[in-house]
Amino acid sequence: MKHTSFTFTKILFYTIFLVFNLVNTAVISQNKKPNIIIILTDDQGYQDVGFNGCTDIPTPNIDKIASNGVKFTNGYVSYAVCGPSRAGLITGRYQDKFGFGKNPLFAPNDPNMGLPTSEQTIAAYLSKSGYQNLALGKWHLGAHPTLHPLERGFTNFYGYLSGGHHYFPEKWTLNDITEVRSQNDGYKTKLLQDHTRVEEKEYLTDALSREAASYIDENSEKPFFIYLAYNAPHTPLQATKKYLDRFPNIKNKKRKTYAAMVSAVDDGVGLVLDKLKEKGLTENTIVFFLSDNGGPEQHNASNNGVLRGGKGDYTEGGIRVPFAMQWPAKIKAGIVYNNPIISLDIFATIVENCSPSIPTKHTLDGVNLIPFLKKSNIKIPHSQLFWRNHRQDAKAVRSGNNKLVIKNELNALFNLNEDISETTNLKTEETDTYIQLKKDWTNWNQNLMKPIFLGLLDGKEYSKTHPNRFVIEKRDSKTGK
Ligand code: CA
Repeated sequence: MKHTSFTFTKILFYTIFLVFNLVNTAVISQNKKPNIIIILTDDQGYQDVGFNGCTDIPTPNIDKIASNGVKFTNGYVSYAVCGPSRAGLITGRYQDKFGFGKNPLFAPNDPNMGLPTSEQTIAAYLSKSGYQNLALGKWHLGAHPTLHPLERGFTNFYGYLSGGHHYFPEKWTLNDITEVRSQNDGYKTKLLQDHTRVEEKEYLTDALSREAASYIDENSEKPFFIYLAYNAPHTPLQATKKYLDRFPNIKNKKRKTYAAMVSAVDDGVGLVLDKLKEKGLTENTIVFFLSDNGGPEQHNASNNGVLRGGKGDYTEGGIRVPFAMQWPAKIKAGIVYNNPIISLDIFATIVENCSPSIPTKHTLDGVNLIPFLKKSNIKIPHSQLFWRNHRQDAKAVRSGNNKLVIKNELNALFNLNEDISETTNLKTEETDTYIQLKKDWTNWNQNLMKPIFLGLLDGKEYSKTHPNRFVIEKRDSKTGK
């Protein structure tokens, strides 16, 4: 009898122990912070992904992100060119709020040419929450030592500080920043690993993909954030034979090279997704995919489909981009989300789902997208979205299906629901709406700053006022200073 009672107690004990452990494991895995990967392409056209109807460039891996999660048909960026769009994305705030209203020049001596240190990046925020953060590829948020990715919350960096780059290692002829003599020389530097110049041997896109996959491989124990900023398919149009050979039927040489460059990115996305799967991280990793602005169709042979205009414009072709996201643990597969969302939502989504108890330094302009995707919030994420180009006195507002665009000779009100290509100006027919949206824009504009640095288009003026722009002291390979 005594023996039976002992066995019963033992069984009871082990059962409780087992249940406790199961619950505990479930709680831990539920509480484990999601990993985050932002895959950002450069100057890719709205229609140049399979999930937006591209027929001549297969993008099966990029498409997986949309089919595993959500494709945003009305996904925007906050500016129509590279630098300011990236500043908005990485701070979650309209970049003109802190004076980042121009594309920065490559100016390694200038601590004011780039993202002000008063701003908090996604990486700086996540580092407070135990994340390790890797920046890959194009930085373009400042080349001064105080603006380097490692000073902005990233624990690792592999890439280049300029606004663009050559793709082939043999073109990276400058050993060090002291050899830079012009804006374009920024395209020719050897790549940086943290602060050290490295002898990279691979085609740029492949090298960045490889680094992303190997980081996942080596850092899967702690939560990570990878900002994978591909240079492709930004000019110069340069692709390897491996990718060019995939497009024997594209006769236009520019389009063929562009297709090859997008195809290389797609392979890289495949590599990253496969690595997540191999490490058992697919479920709890949030992956975003988007382009930093619309395609400059004339320059890189990109295709914005039915959207009017391209890079630099505030008609849809400049600011509406291919945009998808997956997070299998929280959002269903195969969602098509049609309400307008913006790149600024990425930071807000990260905050609410990774460390909601830690406040951000500034109030963010984006929203957490998850409740909208789960339909626990059936309202629209943004009643209005705004754009400004201070230099050109350009304005744009999206409000429901109405769109106000004022830029150069264009001064118009469009209805995107009936007229996605923005061909019919309703300004005189719907005067009240036109006037109201202009007022709304003016109110929004009151909170913005003038650009705090001279931009890419002011290169001559900048060089005149900064005669020592390219007299650059060698930087320490350990500290970068
Ligand atoms: Ca760009």
